[in-house]
Amino acid sequence: NQITGSVVIALDTTEREQREALRREFSANVSHELKTPLTSISGFAELLANGMVPPERVGEFAGDIYKESQRLMALVDDIIELSRLEEETAAPETESVDLYALAEETLASLRPAAERRDVTLTLRGGEAVVQGVRTALQELVYNLCDNAVKYNRPGGSVTVTAEKRGGETVLSVADTGIGIPYEHQNRVFERFYRVDKSHSRQLGGTGLGLSIVKHAAAMHKARLELWSEPDAGTKITVHFDGQ
Ligand code: ADP
Repeated sequence: NQITGSVVIALDTTEREQREALRREFSANVSHELKTPLTSISGFAELLANGMVPPERVGEFAGDIYKESQRLMALVDDIIELSRLEEETAAPETESVDLYALAEETLASLRPAAERRDVTLTLRGGEAVVQGVRTALQELVYNLCDNAVKYNRPGGSVTVTAEKRGGETVLSVADTGIGIPYEHQNRVFERFYRVDKSHSRQLGGTGLGLSIVKHAAAMHKARLELWSEPDAGTKITVHFDGQ
């Protein structure tokens, strides 16, 4: 019955708790984001089902249901992409990927949207091969270029550069668009963070694009650099150091 010693164990749970808080916040945000379009869809469908819509407006209501379900689909796609990136971080399968060729394909797919908005697309540089996960790099390039077109202005331009520079491979996407106000610049990479929620929603944004970019960059140990000036434009550079 004698105490001969004692052991004290101290566990630092800060990181675990922070991670749990982030996850809780993410779930709350996801539920909220999914609920908004679902509420509209359900409301429109109920009115149609009850014969409350005059025949000449049925097409308009169906169009609204279609638009909201597209939004829902974009959100679910982005959420799936984010969790896929999170899983892949554990054991990613890498291959040689040419960022210049990737940018070329991406710009080709964005050309119709850019033409509709009267935005010119230019690609500069040359072969820029990195060792990486192709799907993640595709998402990175696509989301940066898509934003550069979306947050642009009629008559504006997007310039993508992919090249080997010094000891590193660099990809940059520059636009002459609306820019990001200074006080928002260090928050736009957060999940669901949008400078102007209704503007982003109107353009089909989900608030997850830059989080996907951040994840994909981290996966490749690449460094992100943001330059933006309100009313002048934005340039996001991804530095693949030592690749
Ligand atoms: P979204 O789906 O809303 O575009 P993102 O995560 O891709 O979400 O971007 C977050 C926010 O950052 C956008 O809502 C927008 O306000 C701002 N943003 C992103 N890229 C640009 C850009 N090239 N020019 C101006 N604002 C941008």
